[in-house]
Amino acid sequence: MTTQVTVIGLGPMGAQMARTFLKAGYDVTVWNRTAAKADPLVELGAKRAERPTGDLMVISQLDYQAMYDSLDGVDLDGKVLVNLSSDTPAKLREAAAWVAGRGGVLVTAGIMVPPPGIGEPGSFAFYSGPREVLDRHTATLAALGEVVHVGADEGLAMMYYQSQLYVFWSTLTAYMYSAALLGSAGVKAAEIVPFFQGLVGSLAGDGPMGFLKILTEEIDAGVYPGADNSLRMQAVGMEHALHAFRDAGLETSMPAALKELFARTDREGRGAEGLGAVIESIKNP
Ligand code: NDP
Repeated sequence: MTTQVTVIGLGPMGAQMARTFLKAGYDVTVWNRTAAKADPLVELGAKRAERPTGDLMVISQLDYQAMYDSLDGVDLDGKVLVNLSSDTPAKLREAAAWVAGRGGVLVTAGIMVPPPGIGEPGSFAFYSGPREVLDRHTATLAALGEVVHVGADEGLAMMYYQSQLYVFWSTLTAYMYSAALLGSAGVKAAEIVPFFQGLVGSLAGDGPMGFLKILTEEIDAGVYPGADNSLRMQAVGMEHALHAFRDAGLETSMPAALKELFARTDREGRGAEGLGAVIESIKNP
């Protein structure tokens, strides 16, 4: 097991990662573009590096450009870089080739918790890249949370990360629209939250409203039976909802996008199928 780890990037995430490694008893070296951000970590026992260095470098920065800016001219031969920064899947693949061209190995990752959650129960990160390299460092990385390897393709970790975040952002934004709609009639968000807790819980459950599971089976089978809930009925309902937002004087970009997507799937001849048919329009823009 590695006992030495270098943390590169000391924003809220990287600084908390460094503190977590220190607490777990690691020999921690830190580097940040703005050197002063290392001061509180040095006080806690971390070593300050003048240049990024170390056999295992854990990186957490704004994006992958920051990694290029930080590691340009640094000897990466034989080094393992684990980058938990956000960027596009294509940028991650490019970066893996850039690191390999310098004799190192890049493991890419997307961490699914905010700074206070790092290393806490329930914390996890998606990792992609060579499994055997990740395996060598899993015990160390586990200090940050569960290590979930999703495949060799370096872009995959970010695709998993973005898929999770997309559901997080869109679900919570949909809730904000809902709160604003009812708010326009003087209803407080606190009054509606029990209904949304019920809805979100039942969507993820096994009951008659367990649409996450139902939809998943349909998506994997590529068959979307409309049964009692045709897409056309829902496209018309979505149009009514769009008018409700507009009539309440609210911003309508998200409801308008949903309305247009449903209407397009209907125009494409799938109105008699179920909501799941929308994925066919998503796959064929
Ligand atoms: P930021 O995304 O703001 O990243 C800050 C760090 O990036 C600092 O160390 C900063 O250095 C460095 N940086 C930015 N540009 C450069 C550059 N060109 N060259 C060198 N260093 C650079 O803060 P966070 O810590 O919040 O996030 C880090 C990563 O973690 C991001 O990719 C984010 O998407 C991801 N993430 C964040 C979560 C969160 O809740 N905060 C949750 C999950 C993932 P300097 O101090 O010198 O400016």
